[in-house]
This record gives sequence, structure tokens and C-alpha cells, in this order.
Amino acid sequence: MTAYRTLDPEGVKRFLAARRELAERLGGEAQDWTVREVSDGNLNLVFLVFGTTGRLCVKQSLPHVRVDPDWKMPLDRTAFEAAWLRRIEPLVPGLTPAFLDFDPEQFVLTMECLDGFVTLREALTNGADPIAPSRILGGFVARSAFLTSYLAQPFEAVTPDLAFFSGNTTLTRITVDLVLTDPYREHPRNHWLPALDADVAAMRSDPQIIARIGALQERFLTTPQALLHGDLHSGSIMIADHDVRVIDGEFSLYGPIGFDCGLYLAHLALAHAATTDAPRKESLAAAIKAFWRTFCVDFLHLWKTQAHGADLYVPTTFSNALHELDALRTRFINGVFHDAVGFAAAEIVRRLIGYAQTSDFDHIQGQQSKADRQRVALSFACALLRDAPADIDAFTEMLHPQANL
Ligand code: ADP
Ligand code: MG
Ligand code: MG
Ligand code: MG
Repeated sequence: MTAYRTLDPEGVKRFLAARRELAERLGGEAQDWTVREVSDGNLNLVFLVFGTTGRLCVKQSLPHVRVDPDWKMPLDRTAFEAAWLRRIEPLVPGLTPAFLDFDPEQFVLTMECLDGFVTLREALTNGADPIAPSRILGGFVARSAFLTSYLAQPFEAVTPDLAFFSGNTTLTRITVDLVLTDPYREHPRNHWLPALDADVAAMRSDPQIIARIGALQERFLTTPQALLHGDLHSGSIMIADHDVRVIDGEFSLYGPIGFDCGLYLAHLALAHAATTDAPRKESLAAAIKAFWRTFCVDFLHLWKTQAHGADLYVPTTFSNALHELDALRTRFINGVFHDAVGFAAAEIVRRLIGYAQTSDFDHIQGQQSKADRQRVALSFACALLRDAPADIDAFTEMLHPQANL
């Protein structure tokens, strides 16, 4: 047992040099390796290590929030990320970095280095096409959710994962507080542009919005449909050419499938609100539709072809009720959509007024213009919470500010 120590670049080299399989992947000796720290999230340390023949990515949790050393936090989040990666990798081949190693004493996850990739957020800010990756992401959520759900396997295969990931209480607490509670109350972690004061006050005093948020809290904590990524924003996705990878599964838990869908949709909608360029808005709206349609088609296809052994809606019991089975499937997907709409709204709100905000609006010159763009996003979110659209076309219609007056 070696006591936990926070890694620095030299510590990363020592850590890898002591692990023969990992060291062999890098090639050469530790003095030939270069280490680059690339941490940019709120929570963890991430290093890329370049050897003579190979490269690795090393991620370690800190005993506190990376961007706030006074906010103490248990170390076990990389254990949940490692478990998520190992569980999900075979279900979504080629859509995650490859898992290589987890050290439970140093809380270090070692994985494939995605060299030459950038986060989808950075790519979107630089004008990359959002449609192709959104299709791939729709397929990712469909496969990872369906194949870990009760719809795909007997309950005995689900419950061990459900029990394990229920232990991810630290990061589930972060979601409950930062996403689903703090934005709707006074809290020192919240902050926003002063020009949004009246909008925030109106949101918090709207009984319909508060009621919907309460219902979303219930859905999040009491609907363990599938193993979720739990933090599927555009910074948790990396892309290079046509290669898309989902990273950073430390928030993984069993929950409502619409949570992952909603987070992804929220970040496309935030990018949509942040630009004034009409063709760019069109392609972001098209990406929203492409994500959702691919999710639906892939999820239903899996349900029709890979539900052998499941205990829900057992096909042999439905041989005289095929029409009813179709109707139940449609009802399930509509339920996922309704959740996705609500969680998308909650994610937009918290990225505008909560603790961890998005960089989508950073390029906008002038506080007034920035507040105006953010108000468009906040009004969209409030409209979604007040009166949920019935389908994805109605959702994208509401992206136009005049639709939410
Ligand atoms: P955090 O949990 O702190 O948000 P992330 O897992 O999101 O950490 O990683 C932070 C950053 O490190 C990412 O934005 C990305 O730039 C880089 N990164 C993470 N994983 C990899 C990887 N496997 N290969 C290359 N870069 C990575
Ligand atoms: Mg991250
Ligand atoms: Mg990041
Ligand atoms: Mg993270």
C-alpha cells in the first residue's frame, strides 16, 4: 500500500516507469518521455505522456476541486470513471479512449491518449460541423443506454452495476446541488451578469418552473433506467476528423436516459444562442434534430433486435399484442424525450447562472451583447420548463427568441 500522492510531471514518469506494461507502451526510458499537463476541467489532473514509440493519458483525482482547493472532495471519482469506461467500451466500440489501467491507491486512470483531438466545445467555437458528430453521439447514447438497461438484459445483470454505481454519491451530490437545486435558490456558488437579475428573479418566482424542476429532481434520483455518462457536455467529447470519443465518465450513475440526451442538447442550444450567424444557427438546429433522430432510430432498432433475455416487455408474451408493444415503445421514447427537454433546460440554466459556467459566450465583445445572447438562452430554457414541446421539431422552433415571448 503506497499512500496517495498528487502527481506532478516527474511523479507521472515515476508512476509509469514502475508499471512495466505501461512503460513498454511508451518505449525508451523515463528520461526520454515528455509530460504535458492538459487539465482544463473543474475537478481533476490530466497529463499526456509522449514516449519514444507510444503515448498515454493519465488522469488523477485530487482531494479537492481542482479550481477550488478549499472545496474538499473524496478521491474515488476516478474509480467510477474507470468502471464506467470498462463497462461501456465494449458496448460502443471506437467511441471512447481505450481503458488501460486503474490504480486504486493513487486513484490514477491510464487510458489511450487522444493526441490531435480537441474537445467538441472547442471545435464548435471554431466553426466545425456539428451534424456528423451529433449523429454519432445519438448512436452512442442509444447503445450505451439501451445495452445497460433492463430492456436489454435480465435484472440480475443490471443490479450489480446499479449497486456499484449507486456508490458514486460525491458526484451525484454535485449534480443534485449544482444542476438541479442551486440555480433555483440563493446560493453563494451562483453568479450571473447583473443585466440578467430580473430574468433570474422571474424564473425563480414562476410556480410552473419550480414545479417542473421538482419533478426533474424526482426523475433524476428515482428512475434508474440505464447507466448514464452523467456529464455529457461538449467538453466531455473529443473529435478529430471523423473520429468522435466520449471521455470523462466520472459522473456515471444509473438514471433517466433523458438526462444524457438533455445535457447534449443543452450544449448545442447554448452554442446556438451564442452565435448571431444565421447559417451557423441552421446547422446547430439541424445537429439537434440529427442527434435526437439517430438516438430514436438506433434505440428502437436495438430494442427490436437485441432484447433477448430481458425481463421487460418479453416478446413471447406479446405475440398477440404486437400493436400494443409498438405503442409501449413509442410511449417509452416519448418519456425519454420529455425528460431530455427538462434536463436540457436545467443544464442551460445552470451553465448561465450556476457555479460551473460555459465558455460558449466568452468570445462576445461587450457585456450588453453577452447578456442579450445569454437572455435568449435563459428564455429558451424557461419556455421549455413552462411548456414542454411535444417533439424535436417543436423544440428547435422554440430556439427562435420570438417563439418564447
Ligand atoms: P475533468 O474531469 O477534470 O473535466 P477531463 O476528463 O474532462 O477532466 O479531461 C480534461 C482535459 O484533458 C480534456 O478537456 C482534454 O483536453 C484532455 N483529455 C482528457 N482525456 C484525454 C485523452 N484520453 N486523450 C487526450 N486528452 C485528454
Ligand atoms: Mg471534463
Ligand atoms: Mg474538459
Ligand atoms: Mg470530469
